[in-house]
Amino acid sequence: MDINSYNSKIAPTWCPGCGNFGIFTALKQALTSLKLKPDQLVIVTDVGCSGNMADFVNTYCFHALHGRALPTAAGIKLANHKLPVIVIIGDGGCYGEGLQHYLSLMRGNHDLTVLVHDNYLYSLTTGQYSPTTPRGTMTKSTPEGSIEEALNPLALALANHTSFCSRGYAFNISHLTDLIIKAINHRGFSLVDILQPCVTFNKFQTIDNWYSQKVFELKSSFKNKSQAITESLKTDKLAIGVFWQENKPTYHQQVSVLKNKSVVEKLIEKINISPLLEEFV
Ligand code: SF4
Repeated sequence: MDINSYNSKIAPTWCPGCGNFGIFTALKQALTSLKLKPDQLVIVTDVGCSGNMADFVNTYCFHALHGRALPTAAGIKLANHKLPVIVIIGDGGCYGEGLQHYLSLMRGNHDLTVLVHDNYLYSLTTGQYSPTTPRGTMTKSTPEGSIEEALNPLALALANHTSFCSRGYAFNISHLTDLIIKAINHRGFSLVDILQPCVTFNKFQTIDNWYSQKVFELKSSFKNKSQAITESLKTDKLAIGVFWQENKPTYHQQVSVLKNKSVVEKLIEKINISPLLEEFV
């Protein structure tokens, strides 16, 4: 397997220096390492700069409506649960428009790998504040500083029963590659919230003044969920690594008709629909 086999014929159009390049590289490295061929998985992208990856990646890919990548991915997984399904989504799409999907699919432990390109902004639309923008940040849509407190995606996930919760950094590519491999190998809802510099519109969370000062690698796992939540609530330093992982049944394993076979393996011609048509004869 060659990492270039995941490149489409379209070169990425992201701004030079964008964190999306680091995430794209880490994802391709992870897929290569797992020996997953381009036709052996599905990627569902949301709308946003991250979602434009749909054009650049060479796999089966579905570019969903804004905030709707998660339910689309869940549908694909329910139709063929032997297929790895990866969601590429931004902080706006996942924690804003798609928040209800994020919470309910996590509670159901749907077997999805969710990579959130978290750059604290809506960047495709040129830099409005998003759910993860720190309170007080001046953006195009908050010229006097944002009023809402920032949503904490990791703390929310930990409190909301996710079976895999992690955070990565777009420019620690080897570490992020390892996280993505673990997330894909995990059976159940796996979150990788990825700190992603937006070098064009985010002048507050910059590489030099924010990420280089705050990001550090976790050296050991947490003994219990309380410790993981305590770490996730810290804002002065941002730990990257796996915060929480537990094994529990996935959604499709608990649906009786899906336990043994996925929908695509069931032969439709063997289903007798005559009784359903009788009233129309
Ligand atoms: Fe990346 Fe920001 Fe440019 Fe979008 S606007 S491609 S997030 S640097």
